Amino acid sequence: MKRTSCSGCGHVELDTFLDLGDSPIADAYTATPDEPVERYPLEVAVCAKCRLVQLLEVVDHDVLFGTGYSFYSSASPPLSAYHAAYARDVHARHPGLVARGVLEIGCNDGDLLRHFSDVTAVGVDPAAGPADVARRRGLEVLVRPFGLQAAHDLRDRRGRQGVVIANHVLAHVADVADVLAGIRTLLADDGIAMVEVQYLPDLLVNNAFDLVYHEHRNFFSLSSLEQAALRHGLHIVDAELTDRQGGSLRATLATTPSPNVRVDTIRMSERWLNQWSAYESMQGRAERVRARLWDVIAAELHSGRTLAGYGAPAKATTLLAFCGMGQETIPWVVDTTAAKQGRHIPGTGIPIVAPDAAPHADTYLLLSWNYARQIIRNNPGHRWLTPIPAPVIL
Ligand SMILES: [Zn+2]
Repeated sequence: MKRTSCSGCGHVELDTFLDLGDSPIADAYTATPDEPVERYPLEVAVCAKCRLVQLLEVVDHDVLFGTGYSFYSSASPPLSAYHAAYARDVHARHPGLVARGVLEIGCNDGDLLRHFSDVTAVGVDPAAGPADVARRRGLEVLVRPFGLQAAHDLRDRRGRQGVVIANHVLAHVADVADVLAGIRTLLADDGIAMVEVQYLPDLLVNNAFDLVYHEHRNFFSLSSLEQAALRHGLHIVDAELTDRQGGSLRATLATTPSPNVRVDTIRMSERWLNQWSAYESMQGRAERVRARLWDVIAAELHSGRTLAGYGAPAKATTLLAFCGMGQETIPWVVDTTAAKQGRHIPGTGIPIVAPDAAPHADTYLLLSWNYARQIIRNNPGHRWLTPIPAPVIL
């Protein structure tokens, strides 16, 4: 289904600036190399009114999230460490609010929420598999999508919350306005909502077009998040930029405005996003990455080097589909996630193998480029080809 109005403000003028063609559901890893996959358009547009960047194609929820593969936060050591530090920070900065109840939207397997298990903590997540894991950890989890209706039910049962956390949730919902209305409904008048989203300017500046896939329905700047939140009486009272997922924005929302120099600074730095020129060059830059990647790979093969991939994140599906690369170019990819091993990157036939089961390759295309530093440090002696922001041999 193609979106005809803005997810944040309902405006009908959506200007398309990036078309990556048709791509499979990014994490629908296939059991066999030639398993047929459905492809859906990957077109990205910006709302002419509130500047929220969004995917035009809204793939049905069951198709998108019924892939049989669920992401488990705990399976990623860097993410677990990030969660531990995040929780320490919230405990230290807002002890009084934490004591009055913590709700995490999109709690996954409870990897973050478990750090709040000493207080009244509850999670909401539509994915049953990860929610089961969270429950086995002794956490209370409601298995359902979050929106205004869920918020009313929760408020009736548990009252308003001191802290609501929604990390990397707003990007994935079809109706941003409904989730923000739910957060406002559940939040105590003096409570805070902590919202983390992938940061659109980083995506634009880094040419990170592979972060576009069907699960990523919305891409936020502070300004567009602010406009969407204000419609529901939520104000951004603090914000910082972090390096998670190729660049993220962590915003604190409250029901009353409060001036904050960090918010002002980020907002000022985003003025270029009001110009069409911020978006219009993205298509050409994605196409140049594709052409250059083929050139570098051809040079590697011409020099007699063998090639494989490293990492099978969702963004690998977008990159490989857009570049038209399959197993004839990348014979296998290495990935440390057990649930992906033995499966294939959708639409490519490329098998995903465990590091200790992988044959030798001379050069690795680094598909998990956002973890480049850790991966290169942990795998010394390899030759690396990073695709983003521009293909280069390290
Ligand atoms: Zn809008």
